[in-house]
Amino acid sequence: MTSTATRHIPRRTCVVCRQVRPKPELLRIARLQGGEPTFDPRARYGGRGTYVCANENCITLLHKRKGLDRAFRRAFPAVVYQKIIQEMLDYVATKDH
Ligand SMILES: [Zn+2]
Repeated sequence: MTSTATRHIPRRTCVVCRQVRPKPELLRIARLQGGEPTFDPRARYGGRGTYVCANENCITLLHKRKGLDRAFRRAFPAVVYQKIIQEMLDYVATKDH
């Protein structure tokens, strides 16, 4: 019973494209109580979380689709989106090197 094929891989839905993917293919955004959403690549923060595909397309569409507003039921200012989008793009870019 050591086959990895039968091992359960958690799946999450991308808040931008609504596709269900294995968790390792997604980037996590956490929001601690009362705080601003924070990019959480290592799932350190706990709290409520939402997921975005680890590709430029979904990352850059996060703002246009109001992904954070929908995930956390609050309207976030553009600066919050810009910061997270930049952090996620940087992360994806360095990961591919
Ligand atoms: Zn997506």
